[in-house]
Amino acid sequence: MKKKPTGDLALIKKINTSIVLDAVLKHAPLSRAQISELTGLNKATVSSLVQDLIDNHFVLEIGPGQSSGGRKPVMLLFNGKAGYAIGIDLGVNYIRGLLVDLEGGVAREYQQVLKRQDAGFAIEQLEQCIETLLRDAPESPYGVVGIGIGVPGIVDGSGTILFAPNLKWRNIELQKHLEERTGLPVTIDNEANAGAQGEQKYGAGRGIANQIYVSVGIGIGTGIILNKELYKGASGFSGELGHLSIEYNGKPCSCGNQGCWELYASEHALLSSASPLGCESLEDVLQAAAEGDEKIIGLIRSTGDFLGAGIANIVNVFNPNVVILGNRMSRLAQWLEPAIQEAVDRRALQYHRERMRILFAELGEQSAVRGAAYYAISSFFAKIKSGQH
Ligand SMILES: [Zn+2]
Repeated sequence: MKKKPTGDLALIKKINTSIVLDAVLKHAPLSRAQISELTGLNKATVSSLVQDLIDNHFVLEIGPGQSSGGRKPVMLLFNGKAGYAIGIDLGVNYIRGLLVDLEGGVAREYQQVLKRQDAGFAIEQLEQCIETLLRDAPESPYGVVGIGIGVPGIVDGSGTILFAPNLKWRNIELQKHLEERTGLPVTIDNEANAGAQGEQKYGAGRGIANQIYVSVGIGIGTGIILNKELYKGASGFSGELGHLSIEYNGKPCSCGNQGCWELYASEHALLSSASPLGCESLEDVLQAAAEGDEKIIGLIRSTGDFLGAGIANIVNVFNPNVVILGNRMSRLAQWLEPAIQEAVDRRALQYHRERMRILFAELGEQSAVRGAAYYAISSFFAKIKSGQH
């Protein structure tokens, strides 16, 4: 059993510091008096803790705010530029990296085509991305505090990629390797989880309690946010809804099943039917649809119909507030949306769909990389708050 905190002054101070820091993170700009009101801590305690946070570069004082009579109070802000974090989205055929400040604001971007998928080559390219972003990081009190990476596969609690079917990787100890190489804390998660986190924190899911993020790229993955928290399952493997069976005697899938959702509703599925019509890439499909090519628009609609069928299942299971469609296929929103909505209206249970909204990722193709960076930021804050830093 844990020791009770009673009487442990150092621990109480840590807890109170974390309460004050949270108040600044959530409600800035605000004054010391407002922190005291919000938290119930007395003014002297708040003043002393705020001074610690100022000394440690986490809080800044700005000019006086509105007075409610008497002297105008000094307002406090969180200092987002106290440090930086790196987020990376490792795709099947690309690497996207961001350097962000501690508020998640984007400072630098990096993008590269991944020409080969073998782990040796891909990890070398990942390291190059990290080195570039580290080199570009502005001077700051804490420097780069960590790295978060979203990957298209199943990841265990130690950051080992157990299986990434579209990269054909098994058992790659990516977190351990990169921590040794960089000396920085590294967090690795599935790209759909990272995307769900990105949209929840910075995008279309802000302030929404129950959000299912559907990442539609070469395959389909989902990230489940319940009560504003990422639901990871017993071993961190939740959300493999791309392998929901939607055709009983359907096509064989790389997972061993047949008739999986992603075989009918992913970018890969769309391209395999668009390729005989001369569209070899998603960009080709976009262009043809924008030019009014009826056959291509018909193919997009039928992909939207399959997407809607899977989403109807998700809606019936989770009764979410929103389903957010993200990753590359969100670029076709204009044509997909009516088909998806129509299929969901036809298939999902009436009570479940009544107040449920289908949205498209607000961060576009940056949902996963922004979410990955947030992993690095939140583990840094967790350390600060527990006094390990
Ligand atoms: Zn499958």
